[in-house]
Amino acid sequence: MYETTVLIVGAGPTGLTLAIDLARRGIPLRLIDAAERPFEGSRGKGIQPRTLEIFDDLGVIDAIVDAGALYPKFRIHLGPFSLRAGSLGSARQPTVSVPYPNLWMVPQARTEGILCDRLNALGHRVEFGKELVTFSQQEQGVDATLSSGEKIHADFLAGCDGGRSTVRKVLGLRLQGEGLGEKPLLVADVEIQDLDRRDWHVWPLARGGMIGLCPLPNTSLFQFTSQAKSSEGDIPEIIRKITGHRVGRVAWSSVYQPAVRMVDRYRIGRVFLAGDAAHVHPPTGGQGLNTGVQDAYNLGWKLAHVARGGPDSLLDTYEAERLPIAAAVLGLSKRLYKTPTIRRGDATNQLALHYRTSSLSSGVTHGSLNPGDRMPDARLDDGSRLFDHLRGSHATEIVTPEGPRILIRPDGYIAHIGTTHFDEYAGEPTRQIRSSLSEFSLTPKSESKALQ
Ligand SMILES: Cc1cc2nc3c(=O)[nH]c(=O)nc-3n(C[C@H](O)[C@H](O)[C@H](O)COP(=O)(O)OP(=O)(O)OC[C@H]3O[C@@H](n4cnc5c(N)ncnc54)[C@H](O)[C@@H]3O)c2cc1C
Repeated sequence: MYETTVLIVGAGPTGLTLAIDLARRGIPLRLIDAAERPFEGSRGKGIQPRTLEIFDDLGVIDAIVDAGALYPKFRIHLGPFSLRAGSLGSARQPTVSVPYPNLWMVPQARTEGILCDRLNALGHRVEFGKELVTFSQQEQGVDATLSSGEKIHADFLAGCDGGRSTVRKVLGLRLQGEGLGEKPLLVADVEIQDLDRRDWHVWPLARGGMIGLCPLPNTSLFQFTSQAKSSEGDIPEIIRKITGHRVGRVAWSSVYQPAVRMVDRYRIGRVFLAGDAAHVHPPTGGQGLNTGVQDAYNLGWKLAHVARGGPDSLLDTYEAERLPIAAAVLGLSKRLYKTPTIRRGDATNQLALHYRTSSLSSGVTHGSLNPGDRMPDARLDDGSRLFDHLRGSHATEIVTPEGPRILIRPDGYIAHIGTTHFDEYAGEPTRQIRSSLSEFSLTPKSESKALQ
């Protein structure tokens, strides 16, 4: 039986993020995926500002920025007329505290490819064509069985295996919530001859339901979405009839039923759920992929610490911190689905999500900073950028001239504000910075409210 420390099931954005975070800490892992080859579709194409900060920490931000673009403006087609409307995202300039202020469009397959490259550089590979069929757990670990008959013994198992998660089913957990809309949606990546690539084209009154064609950056493809009741084979004909343009190629297509559903446990013993395995979202608001990446980023440092002998109770804080966030984000996705507004604004950028009520957050407030908040970027007294100091697997302590010490967790959230000095945090020596923090501001209160 093959032994490893963490078996990650599912190499979507969630599983890949967790694998990178563990790999950079030197934790032995295996990452298996039932698919024979990497995913090819554009699916979750909206990367939120908070996820961009995580990608900065994980060393993939340059590739993500190169691969993507700001969201284009909508072009609404009404019979023979068309008019330009706003865009889903903002086009703000970076500030000292928010270096990535805008929603960034990258086709999901490209994001996964970039994360795969990073994982390879850290000496690990996705094992495609390996499907988990079942597992059992004992006090000492988890015994997993793959469809090939291969057995893997792991200290921990992470179910990042998407909406139809086998891990969730074996645990006996159910996704609870509701389906949205009466009919499934059709989504596809298509090449279309002579259609203007500057705009996201929408036909709101198309027969059978709204149709959209969004140009995907650095490709010749558009993401096609349709509420019309039709099958994948009908796509070229639907597009020709409604737009008058011919489809050159359908590169990928899928049908799905929008829903808001989640589990009520993220951890059972040595097994964890993350990403779509734990919560499924409608595409409105672009929250699904982002919430999964952030689950993985919350779990990674905790798993690494406990795997090296840290207290097991640290792993309980994963569910305590992430489950309420999934509930809040699902509520937001549902509101956006039911009352669509074009501009999403700050409610969806995930910068104001916080762990203020977590048992890991302690101490007093300092200016607008609270224990549990995302630490904003800042310009330090020596001219350097705070996020450059946070990058890596360690925690960071800032000592300000007034004496408060601000302890920042490895995932960028404030653990403690006060006078206590921490030599180490989660098994690694803390890095110390002495600087004032004059030039920063936290996300305004109105943004935090939007997510509560
Ligand atoms: C049209 C559309 C638009 C979307 N837009 C956005 C957006 O703009 N922003 C956003 O954040 N999200 C968006 N989403 C949602 C996003 O695509 C998902 O939330 C995201 O893919 C979830 O990532 P994941 O890694 O948790 O799961 P997945 O991406 O589903 O990956 C799960 C992986 O597990 C593997 N697997 C499954 N079962 C097994 C098994 N038994 N053994 C081994 N491997 C297994 C699968 O092969 C798969 O590779 C959109 C979704 C759709 C459909």
